[in-house]
Amino acid sequence: MVSAYQSELSNSSTSFLELETDVLVIGGGPSATWAAWNAAAQGARVVLVDKGYCGTSGATAPSGTGVWYVPPDPQQREAAMASREALGGFLSERSWMERVLDQTYTNLNKLSDWGYPFPVDDEGNPHRRSLQQAHDYMRLMRKKITKAGVKILDHSPALELLVDAQGSVAGAKGIRRQTGERWTVRAGAVVIATGGCAFLSKALGCNVLTGDGYLMAAEAGAEMSGMEFSNAYALSPAFSSVTKGAYYRWATFYYEDGTEIEGAGSQKGRSIIARILLTQPVYACLDKATPEIQAMLRTVQHNFLLPFYRMGIDPFTQRFPVTLRLEGTVRGTGGIRIVDETCATTVKGLYAAGDAATRELICGGFTGGGSHNAAWATSSGYWAGEAAAIYAQKLGTKANQRSVRGLGEAAISTSNTSRRSFNPSEVIKGVQAEVFPYDRNMFRTEKGLTESLGRLDDLWKEIRNSEAVSEEQAVQAREATAMVATARWMYASALERKETRGMHKHLDYPEQDPNQYHRLVSGGLDQVWVKPQKLKNAIKDRELVTL
Ligand SMILES: Cc1cc2nc3c(=O)[nH]c(=O)nc-3n(C[C@H](O)[C@H](O)[C@H](O)COP(=O)(O)OP(=O)(O)OC[C@H]3O[C@@H](n4cnc5c(N)ncnc54)[C@H](O)[C@@H]3O)c2cc1C
Repeated sequence: MVSAYQSELSNSSTSFLELETDVLVIGGGPSATWAAWNAAAQGARVVLVDKGYCGTSGATAPSGTGVWYVPPDPQQREAAMASREALGGFLSERSWMERVLDQTYTNLNKLSDWGYPFPVDDEGNPHRRSLQQAHDYMRLMRKKITKAGVKILDHSPALELLVDAQGSVAGAKGIRRQTGERWTVRAGAVVIATGGCAFLSKALGCNVLTGDGYLMAAEAGAEMSGMEFSNAYALSPAFSSVTKGAYYRWATFYYEDGTEIEGAGSQKGRSIIARILLTQPVYACLDKATPEIQAMLRTVQHNFLLPFYRMGIDPFTQRFPVTLRLEGTVRGTGGIRIVDETCATTVKGLYAAGDAATRELICGGFTGGGSHNAAWATSSGYWAGEAAAIYAQKLGTKANQRSVRGLGEAAISTSNTSRRSFNPSEVIKGVQAEVFPYDRNMFRTEKGLTESLGRLDDLWKEIRNSEAVSEEQAVQAREATAMVATARWMYASALERKETRGMHKHLDYPEQDPNQYHRLVSGGLDQVWVKPQKLKNAIKDRELVTL
């Protein structure tokens, strides 16, 4: 066990908390907790800051996940790797898939040793592809990191990174939401594990996922990758936030008059549903579930059925209205570009893990149903935590003696009262108006993307010429800023990919183009840029699989 800090200065009269540590982990979901655990296991002092309460915040905690857990049997592994390559537009890499499969296998077995209650079949064999008891999973992770000496600051979103004179990342600053106290953590290295960006669409667990990590990383000069693959939409009852899709396997979809919608489905027929939703409501009923299946479904994912119970609807016999909620990069694949196997970014001292990092390496341009993301979260967190600890330990005691400065500019409060203020809620509505509509983001066109990007650029200029309205709005203002930045990388990349590949459907270019068999790297804040990048271990282009 390591002692947590060199020093902790808390001064309640100035409401300011200062900490020093080796590794600062920003986030509190599976990727953050695995990063924190492994950094501490290397002997590093670790601080973890979470916007919510670590163990309940983020996409995993309330959802539960299937995991890409495949025993090390060559045939099973080959089948697992081959299964999604075409869907992802062949932008994944086998070497990354192999190491994620290996690490996930090890980590989930470790979870079992730690006491996670994996379900067992009739023969008593554990079913390790399921982390559906995610509250148990995350509670266990919190317990493990606390025991390992990690200092956790709950309800303490990071607002900006700190860098030293050379531009290496050296910590972060943020706010403690429950007290209003400001915090500064000086660190040898930082892991960004802030999840993806779902643009506050009310999808389950996504209320805290506003792309903050992308913004902070980009301010430090980090690059994004695959931001065109950021338009994941998930089915949910129109009256609830539960975007879990498994049960719709037993659904029939209907028009308002009760006529069945041919070809509609949760996986393959989602576009059909989206097209109809553009003009009229769509209903579903889980009427394909036999009484035996219904009995099973009533016990497997309790949170799926809860909103129905509350509404007094029996989803197995009664039709209910559905909608498609944007989950952005949470179940998309874009994120911060990582440059090597340690999950380092292009910026020294900065690592990225989980949904904050690009998942193209294992999924290409599409994640499909669950499992890869959860595997990536545990594996990338594990590697990023380890590497950040080694990096920080090499810096030694010099690390926290560096002179540092905060990097945040847009929507960071200053005392410059001559600057105009902006209304974060209005900006958020403005972004949502560009990214939610199916006929803009799911079915993309050159015209629609260009127009949206123009309006998003205007929103960015408005933010840049303003400052956060008040101290109380500091967090929301940065969230609004992060969402605008994310949407701009997303649409700038989508405009550059003049083809249809992975989840990026371009109506003007409906085919996959072998000449665009590359990744798209993007970045920049005032000036957004996008450039192609060759795949390191490219495989031959194959035929497009239509979703
Ligand atoms: C309904 C649903 C079902 C899903 N099912 C599956 C599945 O079956 N299989 C699968 O593989 N994947 C699934 N996913 C995706 C999976 O949940 C995510 O890939 C996974 O949660 C990513 O983990 P993470 O730690 O990177 O991010 P999250 O779990 O989203 O955690 C992000 C954390 O960062 C914190 N944070 C955000 N901003 C800040 C900030 N500024 N400062 C400090 N902290 C911050 C948040 O509070 C949160 O604790 C599902 C997602 C949803 C929404």
